[in-house]
Order: sequence, then C-alpha cells, then structure tokens
Amino acid sequence: MLEQELIGKRFGRLTVVERTDIKQCNSGEAGNMMYRCVCDCGKERLASGTDLKRGRAVSCGCANADVVKEMKRRLHLGDVEHSNVYQLMRKTSKNNKSGRKGVFWNSRKKGWGVTIGVNGEKKTIGLYSRLSDAIAVREEAEEKYHKPLIEEARMKVDEEKQE
Ligand SMILES: [Zn+2]
Repeated sequence: MLEQELIGKRFGRLTVVERTDIKQCNSGEAGNMMYRCVCDCGKERLASGTDLKRGRAVSCGCANADVVKEMKRRLHLGDVEHSNVYQLMRKTSKNNKSGRKGVFWNSRKKGWGVTIGVNGEKKTIGLYSRLSDAIAVREEAEEKYHKPLIEEARMKVDEEKQE
C-alpha cells in the first residue's frame, strides 16, 4: 500500500486524515511517517503508517476498555474465529451435535467434519470417522491458527494499556 493510499482509509476505529511531517521515533524503520487520524469517538491521534497497516493502531485508546473486557471474557482458543479482535465474539453454534465448535456431523459422508475460521474465512480441515479424532484435529488447528491471533491480540491490549 502506498503511503498516499492510507488517507481516507479506516483502521479499526481510526480514519486517516492526513500525513504529517513527524517521523515516528524508535520505530527502527527509517522514514516511517506519522498520520493524523480521527477516532470514531471524536478524538485525534497520530499513528505511523506501519502501525496502521499492521493493525497496531486501531483506536485513540478508547477501544482498550472494550478489548480488555472481551479478552477477559473470551480468551479461550475455541472462541476465536476471527483475526479481528473486535470480532472475536461469536456465539457458539447452532445444531452442533459434537458439542465442539468447528466439529460437525456430516450425514452425507458419514463422518465428523472439522473446520476452522481463520481471518474470517472457513477452512476445511478434514473428515474423521471418530469424534475423538475430529476433536483432537480441531484442537491442533486451534493451536496452529488461533494461538498466534490471540498472542497478537494480547500484545495489542498491552500496547494500548501503555498509551
Ligand atoms: Zn476513540
């Protein structure tokens, strides 16, 4: 993404208004300019292009309270289906015989299907004849796909706390 293209874009609750002449200090990345952003709550803040693009700047800090609340309530691997921390909340499913999110009985194929949501997309992991196998595979998939997302979200919470 070109720097100019950031202007007018939304990142979480922030809308980028303009580029400033201020360089981010201690970023370790040369020429990382700060952008003036307006938060949904009306406050302004500066954020570097890199922080915006990497999802490290998502609000003026007001999202902090919400994120912390969400994370405390739902910081379990099985509940994370989306990489966006604001979309982590999702009701566990409808008609799920397995009792396990992402594990479903496939009556056509006569087996337990395993899926996992990553970045808002559903990935199909496989089909298993034994429920215990399907659950084990789902747990592995959670470790692989969701754990990094949770770590990222935790870091984000810590960063916003420091602001
Ligand atoms: Zn705000």
